[in-house]
Amino acid sequence: MRVTVESQKNRNSLMASLRVLGLRRDGIGATRRGLREKARMFRTLLSNLDGMVYRCRNDGQRTMEFVSEGCGQLTGYAPSEMLLNQRISYEEITSAQDRARVREEIRTALAWNRRFFVEYRVQCRDGAVKWVGERGVGITDGHGAVVTIEGFIEDVTERKLATQALQQAELRFRSIFENAIEGIFQTAPNGDYLNVNPSFAHIYAYETPARFITEVDNIEKHLHIDPVRRVEFMRLVREQGAVTGFVSQIRRRDGVQIWVSENARAILDEAGTLLFYEGTVEDITDSKLNQEKLEYQASHDPVTQLPNRLLMNDRLRRMMLHAQRNDNVVAVVLIDLDHFKLINDTFGHNRGDALLQAVAQRMRQCLRETDTVARIGGDEFVLLLSGEGRGEAISQVAQRILKTIAQPWRAEGEELSVSCSMGIGIFPRDGRDVQTLLRNADTAMYKAKELGRNNFQFYSPEMNAIMSARLEMQTVLRKAVENNQFVLHYQPMIDLNSGRVAGMEALLRVPDGSGGLLAPQHFIRLAEESGLIIPIGEWVMREACTFNKSLQDRGLPAVPVSINLSARQLARYDLMRAVEQALRESDLAADYLELELTESMVMNDPESVIATLRQLEALGVHLSIDDFGTGYSSLSYLKRFPVTTLKIDQSFMRDIGDGEDGASLVKAIISLGHSLDMKVIAEGVETGAQMALLMQNRCDVMQGYLYSHPLPAADFCALLERESMTTDKVGHLREMCSTSLCTA
Ligand code: C2E
Ligand code: MG
Ligand code: MG
Repeated sequence: MRVTVESQKNRNSLMASLRVLGLRRDGIGATRRGLREKARMFRTLLSNLDGMVYRCRNDGQRTMEFVSEGCGQLTGYAPSEMLLNQRISYEEITSAQDRARVREEIRTALAWNRRFFVEYRVQCRDGAVKWVGERGVGITDGHGAVVTIEGFIEDVTERKLATQALQQAELRFRSIFENAIEGIFQTAPNGDYLNVNPSFAHIYAYETPARFITEVDNIEKHLHIDPVRRVEFMRLVREQGAVTGFVSQIRRRDGVQIWVSENARAILDEAGTLLFYEGTVEDITDSKLNQEKLEYQASHDPVTQLPNRLLMNDRLRRMMLHAQRNDNVVAVVLIDLDHFKLINDTFGHNRGDALLQAVAQRMRQCLRETDTVARIGGDEFVLLLSGEGRGEAISQVAQRILKTIAQPWRAEGEELSVSCSMGIGIFPRDGRDVQTLLRNADTAMYKAKELGRNNFQFYSPEMNAIMSARLEMQTVLRKAVENNQFVLHYQPMIDLNSGRVAGMEALLRVPDGSGGLLAPQHFIRLAEESGLIIPIGEWVMREACTFNKSLQDRGLPAVPVSINLSARQLARYDLMRAVEQALRESDLAADYLELELTESMVMNDPESVIATLRQLEALGVHLSIDDFGTGYSSLSYLKRFPVTTLKIDQSFMRDIGDGEDGASLVKAIISLGHSLDMKVIAEGVETGAQMALLMQNRCDVMQGYLYSHPLPAADFCALLERESMTTDKVGHLREMCSTSLCTA
């Protein structure tokens, strides 16, 4: 009986399987053998199915009435264990977490008389958990109530895990996309944005990606400041498939202009068809501005904000190329401020810088927009003037600059003025490359300095000779300093009342390399410009003091020695220390040292000079004004200076013979000196007539070839010895006067 029930059940199961598999019941009416054959075939089929065909009751346990062989493989339980819940019910192996959901989904489908499909976990016999997919259908009784369910359950663990992994990956990538700091985008092949991330939208000042995509319809016009850049970008991606670091300038939604760098590449399908473009955008405004700032700093002078030498060279090169194509010229004007070092040294760097700024501004005002003015060194500027065909036009500009710069300049209540010297080189005539052109303009500038500064000179090939002489002289000076080759000559000064030697002036000489000696006019200015005057001046002081002391030690009449100072030695240099040292080393009394200064030296910055001079005076050193009458002196200052002597410049002696005017000037200076309580010395006295005039006008002392040329130390010593023997010195003077008058 039991067997019959089982076989009846089996038959029912088979029928159910047929229905599940969608097979029709056509063969039911065939012969038994045919039926058996079919049953065998279906059994084979069912047992080979990857999964489990079932029929269960629509009850709480999902009691299985039929399960196919696949049950074992799917759940680990043999079909017999599952059937009629003999060992375990299907409900029990359904994961507790999923049970309610599975039940609900099945219930709903059955209620609507629909097939269902549900995925959930089952716990296998060995404890492993598997994901299964179950599809099934409800079987109703005659009254429409679902009594059984028939269906198929298969292992979908692998697919499920793969999908889950995919979903997680997608989630991860979405998170990267959403939270990336860089802007990320996808565009259609025509460039329209398909998808952008929040950062992308923010870069362009849109609140959300959606807003960006809907509002930006014309990318070139909407975003790009230079629409051609966008066209170029799209062309590159199309042609090369990828673009990196493409920089363009963008106008954001709020109007702010920014710089962005874009990377993009084309995404193709397997057949090579373009699907879309994707890429990233980065706001590089800050680094771009930094870079611009660095570039600016590298190419501009920090004090005046003018282009520096580097940028000037570059511009000159371009202008030369341009001029060459257009058969035009370029003028290079090298400008050097006269005595700027002195101003800098005297007034300090702050004022020096302020002066440079004022000069830069004035120069700019004299030029056209297209011209360049650059600062290439301490006090050196360069103008680049394009298209100035005629020298006349260049001269006009140079003239204008001379005039503008020479205008007095007020700072902190004081008035300063500075002049400049300019050298002009013309491309292509004076050089076809930057270096030659600048070198020749430099040569012309030196010529302008030679000619007394405050002027401009056009370059000419003959100037090269001057330049090389200058260079040679510089070498001679350096060598002389290194090898201690300088020589001092001494010229006596004669007291016009007593006829005695009243002093001696130390005059510097340097060997010319061929046995002769060079006078200061050939090298003093160069020594001042190069700064060599400082060590040279110290040497002069030491040597002169030592020599003077040696004369006294020989018992010769003691007379003071005069030393010429240069402006550099007065400004920002510890003159006091040098003087004290020279006196100490030579053991000479300060009273026997006299320092000669010129008017321009003391008048440039009278207040600070007065302080230095007072210190020197306190030391016991005498001070005199040399070449008096050639510079400009303020009498009120002259009174305040602790100066005891005026030396009338030798040019006045020359003028004495030229008529009344010359003589009256000399007279005037002598009485001026006396009225200031100063001793007056006349320089450059060559004739008896000059001496006679001086004596008549009670000039105190004379110095000049009439009495003696400057002499080497030994000769001067001999002169002093001779002179000390002469008893009638005044007679000697008179004699000199008359012989000279006779010879004249
Ligand atoms: P200075 O101080 O006015 O010196 C007088 C110049 O006149 C000397 O020229 C001297 O040789 C020259 N002299 C003297 N008597 C006569 C004369 O009767 N007729 C003519 N025509 N000239 C006469 P020197 O030696 O060539 O010096 C020129 C200038 O160089 C000096 O002018 C002085 O300013 C400067 N100097 C000379 N030695 C030194 C020095 O050691 N240091 C500095 N910083 N400058 C110096
Ligand atoms: Mg002198
Ligand atoms: Mg003089």
